[in-house]
Amino acid sequence: MENRIGIGYDIHRLVDGRELFIGGIEIPYIKGLLGHSDADVLIHAICDALLGAIAGGDIGKLFPDTNPEYRGIRSRELLKIVLELVRKKGYKITNVDTVIIAEEPNLSAFKNRIQENLSKIMKIDKNCVGIKAKTNEGLGALGSKEGIACYAVVLVRKENLL
Ligand code: MG
Repeated sequence: MENRIGIGYDIHRLVDGRELFIGGIEIPYIKGLLGHSDADVLIHAICDALLGAIAGGDIGKLFPDTNPEYRGIRSRELLKIVLELVRKKGYKITNVDTVIIAEEPNLSAFKNRIQENLSKIMKIDKNCVGIKAKTNEGLGALGSKEGIACYAVVLVRKENLL
Protein backbone atom coordinates (compact mmCIF):
# COMPACT_ATOMS: atom_id res chain seq x y z
CA MET A 1 0.00 0.00 0.00
CA GLU A 2 1.33 3.43 -0.95
CA ASN A 3 0.30 6.35 1.27
CA ARG A 4 0.67 9.98 0.24
CA ILE A 5 -0.06 13.14 2.19
CA GLY A 6 -1.17 16.54 0.87
CA ILE A 7 -1.49 19.97 2.41
CA GLY A 8 -3.71 22.84 1.27
CA TYR A 9 -4.28 26.43 2.35
CA ASP A 10 -6.62 29.13 1.18
CA ILE A 11 -7.81 32.58 2.21
CA HIS A 12 -10.54 34.85 0.87
CA ARG A 13 -11.59 38.38 1.69
CA LEU A 14 -14.99 39.03 3.36
CA VAL A 15 -17.08 41.59 1.47
CA ASP A 16 -20.63 42.97 1.42
CA GLY A 17 -23.14 41.67 -1.07
CA ARG A 18 -21.92 38.08 -1.33
CA GLU A 19 -23.30 34.85 0.15
CA LEU A 20 -21.01 32.89 2.45
CA PHE A 21 -20.25 29.28 1.50
CA ILE A 22 -18.03 27.11 3.68
CA GLY A 23 -17.71 23.40 2.98
CA GLY A 24 -20.53 23.62 0.47
CA ILE A 25 -22.97 24.92 3.10
CA GLU A 26 -24.50 28.39 2.93
CA ILE A 27 -23.82 30.11 6.24
CA PRO A 28 -26.04 33.05 7.24
CA TYR A 29 -23.82 36.10 7.75
CA ILE A 30 -23.78 39.79 6.87
CA LYS A 31 -20.89 39.27 4.42
CA GLY A 32 -19.60 36.67 2.01
CA LEU A 33 -16.24 35.69 0.56
CA LEU A 34 -14.96 37.42 -2.55
CA GLY A 35 -13.80 35.24 -5.42
CA HIS A 36 -14.23 34.15 -9.01
CA SER A 37 -16.15 31.02 -7.94
CA ASP A 38 -18.39 30.91 -4.86
CA ALA A 39 -15.08 31.43 -2.95
CA ASP A 40 -15.64 28.39 -0.72
CA VAL A 41 -12.36 28.68 1.14
CA LEU A 42 -12.64 25.27 2.84
CA ILE A 43 -13.33 23.34 -0.36
CA HIS A 44 -10.48 25.19 -2.08
CA ALA A 45 -8.04 24.17 0.69
CA ILE A 46 -9.22 20.55 0.40
CA CYS A 47 -8.82 20.64 -3.41
CA ASP A 48 -5.24 21.88 -3.04
CA ALA A 49 -4.46 19.23 -0.42
CA LEU A 50 -5.77 16.50 -2.75
CA LEU A 51 -3.86 17.93 -5.70
CA GLY A 52 -0.74 18.12 -3.53
CA ALA A 53 -1.07 14.46 -2.55
CA ILE A 54 -1.06 13.38 -6.21
CA ALA A 55 1.48 16.07 -7.27
CA GLY A 56 -1.24 17.36 -9.59
CA GLY A 57 -0.55 21.10 -9.46
CA ASP A 58 -2.90 23.49 -7.69
CA ILE A 59 -6.39 24.90 -7.95
CA GLY A 60 -5.17 28.14 -9.55
CA LYS A 61 -3.52 26.21 -12.36
CA LEU A 62 -6.50 23.88 -12.91
CA PHE A 63 -9.26 26.48 -12.63
CA PRO A 64 -7.73 29.87 -13.55
CA ASP A 65 -9.84 32.89 -12.62
CA THR A 66 -9.29 34.18 -16.15
CA ASN A 67 -11.51 31.36 -17.43
CA PRO A 68 -15.16 32.51 -17.63
CA GLU A 69 -16.26 28.85 -17.36
CA TYR A 70 -15.52 28.94 -13.62
CA ARG A 71 -17.16 32.28 -12.92
CA GLY A 72 -19.66 31.90 -10.07
CA ILE A 73 -19.22 28.11 -10.09
CA ARG A 74 -20.07 26.22 -6.90
CA SER A 75 -16.80 24.91 -5.51
CA ARG A 76 -18.23 21.43 -4.97
CA GLU A 77 -18.12 21.11 -8.77
CA LEU A 78 -14.39 21.93 -8.69
CA LEU A 79 -13.92 19.36 -5.91
CA LYS A 80 -15.67 16.73 -8.02
CA ILE A 81 -13.21 17.36 -10.86
CA VAL A 82 -10.28 17.06 -8.43
CA LEU A 83 -11.73 13.84 -6.96
CA GLU A 84 -11.88 12.38 -10.46
CA LEU A 85 -8.17 13.21 -10.96
CA VAL A 86 -7.35 11.47 -7.68
CA ARG A 87 -9.39 8.42 -8.73
CA LYS A 88 -7.77 8.31 -12.18
CA LYS A 89 -4.32 8.20 -10.56
CA GLY A 90 -5.49 5.16 -8.60
CA TYR A 91 -5.74 6.77 -5.16
CA LYS A 92 -8.47 6.60 -2.53
CA ILE A 93 -8.90 9.11 0.26
CA THR A 94 -8.07 7.72 3.71
CA ASN A 95 -8.96 10.84 5.65
CA VAL A 96 -9.16 14.63 5.49
CA ASP A 97 -8.53 17.04 8.34
CA THR A 98 -9.20 20.76 8.24
CA VAL A 99 -8.95 23.98 10.23
CA ILE A 100 -11.19 26.98 9.49
CA ILE A 101 -9.99 30.31 10.87
CA ALA A 102 -12.94 32.69 11.12
CA GLU A 103 -13.33 35.42 13.70
CA GLU A 104 -16.98 35.55 12.62
CA PRO A 105 -19.43 33.95 12.13
CA ASN A 106 -19.37 31.31 14.84
CA LEU A 107 -19.37 28.03 12.93
CA SER A 108 -20.01 25.60 15.79
CA ALA A 109 -23.64 25.13 14.76
CA PHE A 110 -22.61 24.29 11.17
CA LYS A 111 -19.62 22.00 11.62
CA ASN A 112 -21.76 18.87 11.62
CA ARG A 113 -23.53 19.80 8.38
CA ILE A 114 -20.23 20.75 6.74
CA GLN A 115 -18.75 17.40 7.79
CA GLU A 116 -21.76 15.47 6.45
CA ASN A 117 -21.79 17.39 3.19
CA LEU A 118 -18.08 16.94 2.51
CA SER A 119 -18.18 13.23 3.38
CA LYS A 120 -21.04 12.83 0.90
CA ILE A 121 -19.20 14.66 -1.91
CA MET A 122 -15.93 12.78 -1.27
CA LYS A 123 -17.77 9.47 -0.72
CA ILE A 124 -15.88 8.73 2.50
CA ASP A 125 -17.14 8.03 6.00
CA LYS A 126 -18.09 11.02 8.11
CA ASN A 127 -15.56 9.80 10.68
CA CYS A 128 -12.81 10.39 8.12
CA VAL A 129 -13.56 14.13 7.77
CA GLY A 130 -12.21 16.42 10.49
CA ILE A 131 -13.71 19.92 10.71
CA LYS A 132 -12.28 22.35 13.22
CA ALA A 133 -13.15 26.02 13.49
CA LYS A 134 -11.34 28.64 15.53
CA THR A 135 -10.96 32.39 15.76
CA ASN A 136 -7.68 34.26 15.29
CA GLU A 137 -7.99 35.74 18.79
CA GLY A 138 -8.51 39.19 17.30
CA LEU A 139 -5.03 39.24 15.81
CA GLY A 140 -4.16 40.57 12.37
CA ALA A 141 -6.36 40.68 9.26
CA LEU A 142 -8.21 37.45 10.11
CA GLY A 143 -8.79 38.67 13.64
CA SER A 144 -10.30 41.92 12.36
CA LYS A 145 -12.76 39.95 10.18
CA GLU A 146 -11.22 40.97 6.86
CA GLY A 147 -11.30 37.40 5.64
CA ILE A 148 -11.52 33.69 6.38
CA ALA A 149 -8.68 31.19 5.94
CA CYS A 150 -8.52 27.39 5.92
CA TYR A 151 -5.92 24.67 6.18
CA ALA A 152 -6.46 21.10 5.02
CA VAL A 153 -4.41 17.94 5.06
CA VAL A 154 -5.34 14.70 3.34
CA LEU A 155 -3.99 11.18 3.27
CA VAL A 156 -4.58 9.13 0.12
CA ARG A 157 -3.65 5.53 -0.55
CA LYS A 158 -3.04 3.28 -3.49
CA GLU A 159 -3.26 -0.44 -3.10
CA ASN A 160 -0.42 -1.86 -5.16
CA LEU A 161 -1.54 -4.91 -7.07
CA LEU A 162 1.36 -7.35 -7.14
MG1 MG B 1 -9.69 30.09 -3.16
